[in-house]
Formats: sequence, C-alpha cells, structure tokens
Amino acid sequence: MLNIILFGPPGAGKGTQSKKIIEKFNLTHISTGDVLRKNIEEGTLLGIEAKKLIDDGNYVTDEMAIEIIHNELSMHHNPNGFIFDGFPRTTFQAEKFSQILSIHGGDVNLMISIEVEESLLIERLINRSKESGRPDDRQEDIIKKRIEIYHNRTSCIKEFYKSQGKFESINGNGEIDIIFDKICLVIAKYN
Ligand code: ADP
Repeated sequence: MLNIILFGPPGAGKGTQSKKIIEKFNLTHISTGDVLRKNIEEGTLLGIEAKKLIDDGNYVTDEMAIEIIHNELSMHHNPNGFIFDGFPRTTFQAEKFSQILSIHGGDVNLMISIEVEESLLIERLINRSKESGRPDDRQEDIIKKRIEIYHNRTSCIKEFYKSQGKFESINGNGEIDIIFDKICLVIAKYN
C-alpha cells in the first residue's frame, strides 16, 4: 500500500498532478477541498459551516478535516493506496493522521512537496477562478491570505515528515508533464 501526501501552497498544482498520479499508479485521490466543495454545492450542514470559512480564505476546523478523512477512508478501499491532497494542513492533523491510517491498515509512506514561486501561484489561482468560479480564487487579497496561512500553519509539517525520512521536494515552476515526470521518479524510489 502506497500512501502519498501531495503537499504545497494553494496553486502549486496538487489537483492536476494528483489526477495523473492516480491513473499511473492505480491509487485513489482523496482531496479534503473537493469534499468540502461538494458539501457546499449540496448545502449540507458541513457545507454551510465550511463556506463561511473558505470564502474568507480561512481553514475549516481540524475536526471537520479529520472527519472528512475518516469518512473517505471508510468509503473507499484501495489496496494500492491513496493520494492525499490538502490534508494534513496543520500539525494537529499530521499527528492524528498516522493514527487514522493505522485504523485502516496503512501509514504515510511519503510526502511530496511541490515548490512554486509566489508570483506564479497568484497568477495561476486568478486564472483558475475564471474556469472554476471558486470564490476563494477570485480576489488577490484572499489568495494572499491563503498563501500566508499556508506559510504560518502548514509549511512546518514538512519538518514532521522530514524527521521520519519520508520527505521529498520537487520544483513545481515548469510544465505539467515535466513536473509529473519528476514526481514519478520520486515515487519509484519508495514503491
Ligand atoms: P487549495 O490547495 O488550492 O487552497 P483546496 O481545494 O485544497 O485548495 O482547499 C480549499 C479550502 O478548503 C482551503 O483554503 C481551506 O479553507 C479548506 N480546507 C481544505 N482542506 C483542509 C484541511 N485539511 N484543513 C483545514 N481546511 C481545509
């Protein structure tokens, strides 16, 4: 079983690369952001609570994120493993994650961090909003706030996995296929 955390700031390309990785390695994609947007669309209680936070550029609570991961892992069974996109995002979530995965018979094998320059992130997110209509991608001040929260609360999780020898970082500034090739090389080392 191969459990990979795809990591990086908003706009790093985690969603795009996840789609390619799951196809090639027969993994299942679990994105907390996708689940949250689905709940918002369907108007569930979780969706209503989450929308207020997400539209302002804030994170949802750790409890919400952890609940989503629990549910997704209970719903999807894949002996090959999973790509986690957007989780964990806080130290608390990272610490809980191993516990949650062990209940489902696995552990984190690898975190791959996609590193991208900030000016490129902002440009990508503003472009993405034109197609996705995501309210949190529309305004530059909200985008900047999300990137700042990533630096303040999320990027430190790299150290957590580095200390366990489960960390790799790749340059995510270039073309999609070239970045994908780099990711495949990294995965091959752990597979
Ligand atoms: P991006 O990586 O582009 O910011 P995501 O689709 O991963 O987008 O997440 C969208 C939003 O959903 C985040 O800005 C945050 O508000 C919320 N979210 C997603 N995952 C988590 C999480 N694990 N913990 C807290 N909030 C989360």
